[in-house]
Amino acid sequence: MKALVFSSTKKLIYKTVPKPKLKKNETLIKVLATGICGSDMHAFNGLDKVKKKPPIILGHEVIGINLQKNKYCAINPIISCSKCEYCKKNMEHLCSKLSMIGMTKPIKKNGGFAEFLSIPKSNVLNIPKNKNLYNFTLIEPTAVALHAINLSKKHIDKDLSKLNILIIGAGSIGLLIALILKSKKINKLNMVDFNFKKLEIAKKHTNTSIFQPHQKKLLQQSFDIIYDAVGTNNSREQALNLIKSGGLIMHIGLSEINKGINFLKLTRNEVKLIGSYAYTNKEFKNSLTMISKNKLGNLSWKSFTNLKNGQKIFESINTGKSISPKIILTP
Ligand SMILES: [Zn+2]
Ligand SMILES: [Zn+2]
Repeated sequence: MKALVFSSTKKLIYKTVPKPKLKKNETLIKVLATGICGSDMHAFNGLDKVKKKPPIILGHEVIGINLQKNKYCAINPIISCSKCEYCKKNMEHLCSKLSMIGMTKPIKKNGGFAEFLSIPKSNVLNIPKNKNLYNFTLIEPTAVALHAINLSKKHIDKDLSKLNILIIGAGSIGLLIALILKSKKINKLNMVDFNFKKLEIAKKHTNTSIFQPHQKKLLQQSFDIIYDAVGTNNSREQALNLIKSGGLIMHIGLSEINKGINFLKLTRNEVKLIGSYAYTNKEFKNSLTMISKNKLGNLSWKSFTNLKNGQKIFESINTGKSISPKIILTP
C-alpha cells in the first residue's frame, strides 16, 4: 500500500509499505481521509521524540471503510485497556495503558496517513454515508473541544452564557470550541490569534469577536474562562494576564510544554488552571452525533489534498502559508 511515512525530523516520504497485519480482535480499514492535527505538526518538527518517534505513519483523525462489514466508519484513535481504574470510571483518555494510533509509545501503532489501517474492532464507529461524509473527519478534534468544554463546566459554578469567554487560537480546536458553545446558545465569545487571516475565517464561521494578541481592545478586557488551544509560553502568559480573579484557564494546546506561568498571579488571584486532554469514549460518540445532526453548521472551513502532497503541505503549515484551520489528506 501507499503511505506517508514520517522518516526523520521535517521529512515525510510517500512510498510503498507492507499492508498492516491484523492482530486478534482487529479489523482492516480502507482509509478515506485523515486530518492533520497540531500534534502531527509537533512530531514533524522533532518536538515529540518519545511518543511519535520516526519511523512511523502519523495521523489519528480518520474516516474510512470497515472492510470486514463493508461500512463507512470513523476511528476512535485512543486504545484503552477497559480494565484499569480510569477505564472503569469511563475516563478512557486517562487509561494507565493508553496507546493511540500514529504513536510509537507505549505500543508502536501506525496511523491514518496511508491507504489502510488496522484497529481494534471496538474502536470502529459506523457513520452514515451522505453528502456530508467528509465532515466526520472532524469528530476527533470536535471531541477534544467538547471535552474541554465539559471539563470547564465541572470547574465553574456559573452559567456559561453569562460569562466573558476567550478562546486562544483560531485553529480547528479553537474554532470547534466556538461552534460547540454557539450551538449551546453561549454567544459572548472572543478569539485571539497572531494570524489575522485565520481570525477572519473564524469570524466568518462563528461570528466571535476577533483580536490579535496586542490589540488594546483585547488587553482592556478580562475573562471568566479562557480556553488556551495553543499552549505556548506566550499563550499561557496572555491567558494569565487576561484572566479574572477566580477565573478558569483550560489548557488544551501543547505546542511548548514549559514556562509561561506567573505563579504569583495564579496564587494571589486564585486562578484555576486545568489541563484538558483528549476525550472519553462517550464524548467521541457525542461528537459523531453532533456532526451527523449538523449541530455545528456547514463545516466548510476544512480543506483537502492528496496524501502524496504530505511533505509540501506540512511545510506550508509550518511557514504559515497554509491558513486553513484543518487540512485533510486523502489517499
Ligand atoms: Zn488530533
Ligand atoms: Zn485502562
